[in-house]
Amino acid sequence: MRRRFLLFLFLIVLVFALFYKSPFSAMYNYNKAKALYTQGQYEQAIPYFERSLFADPRGILARFYYVLTLSKAKPVYSVQKKLYDMANSKINDEASKYAKVQLMYMKYNLLDGIENNYIYNASMGNDILRWDIKSFPLKVYFDNPTLVPDYYVSSIKNAMIQWTNHTNFVKFSIINEPSQADIYISFKDIQKDACENGVCKYAVAYTEPEISKDKILKKMNLTFYKTNPRGENFSAREVFNTALHELGHTLGIMGHSENPNDVMYSIKESDYMLDFFKSEDQALSARDLKTLVLLYRIEPTISNTKNQHSETFYYAPLVLGNDDLRLQKKLDEYRKYIQLYPHMASGYINLASVYGDLGDFDSALKALNDAEARANTTDERYLVLYNKAITYYNKQEITKALECAQKAQSIKDDNNVRDLISDIENLNK
Ligand SMILES: [Zn+2]
Repeated sequence: MRRRFLLFLFLIVLVFALFYKSPFSAMYNYNKAKALYTQGQYEQAIPYFERSLFADPRGILARFYYVLTLSKAKPVYSVQKKLYDMANSKINDEASKYAKVQLMYMKYNLLDGIENNYIYNASMGNDILRWDIKSFPLKVYFDNPTLVPDYYVSSIKNAMIQWTNHTNFVKFSIINEPSQADIYISFKDIQKDACENGVCKYAVAYTEPEISKDKILKKMNLTFYKTNPRGENFSAREVFNTALHELGHTLGIMGHSENPNDVMYSIKESDYMLDFFKSEDQALSARDLKTLVLLYRIEPTISNTKNQHSETFYYAPLVLGNDDLRLQKKLDEYRKYIQLYPHMASGYINLASVYGDLGDFDSALKALNDAEARANTTDERYLVLYNKAITYYNKQEITKALECAQKAQSIKDDNNVRDLISDIENLNK
């Protein structure tokens, strides 16, 4: 009885497979798909073309009409991805050439109204980092606001109001429970060695994302210095302008605009305090807003909720090109940043991370050594050592990896470095 049952199942599978992989199936499904296409029923035609191509992946007509259908269907996420795959298909035929052209039109239409942006600089390497829009308002916690004059907090709140008013979807709420914070704002003393030979190099604030190993955005830490290196409080305007810029980072814009009219521009060291922070209150530019809107339309790879997906999202490679192109643009961006801020360790750390993504570990180490020579805060020294440990780990140089990781741990003993050390030790086994 049992044996017969198995045979029966086997027969079914065999017949099924024959049917789907046969020229008959390719032809049958193609005809069906073509009929639907002719009637303008593009979405319905797609699965039949796919069945036909499953049976005969090189079917010239099926491939061509499949591309035509995709380019006429509603450009939802899955359609974008399918057209992208056809345009980048290994089979080099009329269909793939036509798909390339149609892909350009699709991108053009999807970006209609927001094409003027700096989205290439907003991504983080190959990752799209942003909040799940459903979790707005973002919960903001102020740690020890009594350390600074009252206008620090009110200026930061004013900057939040501007982001909210200009976007209609960004929302913040202030909370009193630190463990619940999405954005954790704190105030700290400026490092003593910010000045050298009468020249002071320092920032007003900085933002660091906290991302778990499984690519979950835990929170954004936004740290303001209490004073400048001379011990003077920042003005309300300096705090406001800085907050407006740093909030852009906390929302997921992980790089900088190359245009001085944008709030997310990175300011040249020499102009630092003169223009941007003192002259007038900044306002978000159209490009800042378009970049943020586009960022929140693209499917994220790092977010506060897992596996966010929607057919209304944009497929990242369609907007940003393939990984190599993106990394190349990032390299350009960080090299420019280093030209602007040759003394800041962070530019070299970012550069190293792109080299790491490209698999060029020697260049990554060289950039990290450059960063090490310029690191003047414990956070920076920690980051350099942590990233060096990762680079040696990727090069399979276990002893050096462990040495750097332990040095990093002696500076800051957090979960990231503990995880890394246990990974390195496992590699040793
Ligand atoms: Zn910035």
